Amino acid sequence: MRIDILTIFPEMFRGPFDYGIVRRARERGLVEIAVHDLRDFAADKHRTVDDRPFGGGEGMVLKPEPIFRAVEHLLGEQFDRERAAVILLTPQGRRFTQAMAAYLATRERLVLICGRYEGVDERVAGYLATHELSIGDYVLTGGEVPAMVIVEAVVRLLPGALHRAESARRESFAAGGILDYPQYTRPAEFRGLRVPEVLLSGHHAEIARWRRRMALAKTLRNRPDLLEKAALSEEDRQLLEELRDM
Ligand code: SAM
Repeated sequence: MRIDILTIFPEMFRGPFDYGIVRRARERGLVEIAVHDLRDFAADKHRTVDDRPFGGGEGMVLKPEPIFRAVEHLLGEQFDRERAAVILLTPQGRRFTQAMAAYLATRERLVLICGRYEGVDERVAGYLATHELSIGDYVLTGGEVPAMVIVEAVVRLLPGALHRAESARRESFAAGGILDYPQYTRPAEFRGLRVPEVLLSGHHAEIARWRRRMALAKTLRNRPDLLEKAALSEEDRQLLEELRDM
């Protein structure tokens, strides 16, 4: 996979891709990440990328020409929408989810467009981007942090990126659409707080059942909305009934 990021602050990307799984994936050649200064695609000598909004109002808006020029330079004018995704980061976009990360991990090329100021000329959303994505219902000052979030979520799903691929299948939002189970490590007792005895028992079937129950309990407590769409077995439903009655 190749990921291209368009931003007016390329320096912000020094560091985030140099650690952990993303770094390893780059070193293994699973992903190539290139960060581009949008100003390099401006047409005038002042390298202008923004202008005042038509119709009045505060702030500045990122102009369409440098963004269209950059994407066409990277992907060509007629890019294959099956192989490439052009993503505009915007709080007005569809919410970015684990399912979307899994979908994007199957593309060969991603181009991430980071907005700034009051946002991006709407013609980018209408005629260039294949997706408008938001990382959550809050407004940040720019699309750079959202781009980092998307890169990290997608890259760790690339085949070979994780040491143990099954951990991605088990994680929150993946395993039937519920949250992950609680994890504990040594010491078995810390300030009088003991690890649940079942985890020390070595009884694999009981541990698996306890973990499923705890994952359901945590989902019920923190994200009951997920249960509406979750893939639940009959046993899960019974466990949920018990948890709701508690
Ligand atoms: N005026 C816009 C609005 O109210 O929808 C907000 C613009 S915001 C200050 C500037 C840029 O930050 C956006 O163009 C976008 O690229 C990025 N941004 C801010 N919040 C975001 C979010 N939740 N998800 C994705 N991108 C976001």
